[in-house]
Amino acid sequence: MTFFLRRRWMLSSLLAGFTTLASAQSEALYLPKAQQVADKVYAIVGPLGQRSEANAGLNANYGFIVTDKGVILIDSGASAHSAALLQKAVQGVTPQPIRWVLNTGSQDHRWLGNDFFAKQGAEVHALAATVKTQKAAAEQQMTGLARFVGAQLKGTQPRQATVVHPGTDVTLTLGGTTLRWLDTSAHYPGDTLIHLPQASVALTGDLVYVDRLLGVLPQSNVRKAAQGFERLQALAPKYVVPGHGRVTDMAQAQKETGDYYAYLINNVGAAARNMDTLSETLDKFASPAPFKHLQNFEELHRANMSRVFVDFESNP
Ligand SMILES: [Zn+2]
Repeated sequence: MTFFLRRRWMLSSLLAGFTTLASAQSEALYLPKAQQVADKVYAIVGPLGQRSEANAGLNANYGFIVTDKGVILIDSGASAHSAALLQKAVQGVTPQPIRWVLNTGSQDHRWLGNDFFAKQGAEVHALAATVKTQKAAAEQQMTGLARFVGAQLKGTQPRQATVVHPGTDVTLTLGGTTLRWLDTSAHYPGDTLIHLPQASVALTGDLVYVDRLLGVLPQSNVRKAAQGFERLQALAPKYVVPGHGRVTDMAQAQKETGDYYAYLINNVGAAARNMDTLSETLDKFASPAPFKHLQNFEELHRANMSRVFVDFESNP
């Protein structure tokens, strides 16, 4: 490297450092806090924005159940650093140890804290389909996440579940608490929801978003998502802990997620089946009144529509 290049490199890394510092300073530090949902059931509701150092990558919802034989934690955070923050939130409620960690999905913030909890003796559980996606995504997720949380990734080891459940409909019991675990494959292949029949709570993973628009990614399957939502309706939980957004009920979940899946399928999917053009379709359905108010609408809706269009075009 020439002196000149070295100087330029130093300058640009300095500038990058300042930018990170500036954005970290402008964003309030997020500390996970437990919120009671029902008897023995708690949610930890993360912020709606992008992953950052200020939120430690915990921009999603978590949950836990205090059973007679220890705590079941739903999702493990985005790193060892953030897993320790989740553990603190649990310890604020109960002195019981975390016995089980369940992964509802394969996005970084749902499972990269597994290793932290496993090292402390927790059993990590996941459905086989979830583990498959985690394995395929691990390396890319570590690289991607480093851009958002930097040095907080130190000591984080991607580690899949030690107890892997085959199938798409699993029932587990610990310390008198029974849970039903269903594959939805909505946002990512192998995404799941967890239903607690005794408490009438569903922790939906990335099947349900409220307050912000959900994202349809290249890995998402809007038809499976709509079917998963129907299964959720059939369970009729009183309380819904969505993947993102406040703890809510089925009415809000219906309005901001169920109706949106239906909107995409019945309008954009139908247009693709009808062989309308993509650009016409994107313009025609650009501004649906029931969803326009949701956070992230401007950033996501058009891309969501084009992914659904391409999906239905290639697989009508
Ligand atoms: Zn998510």
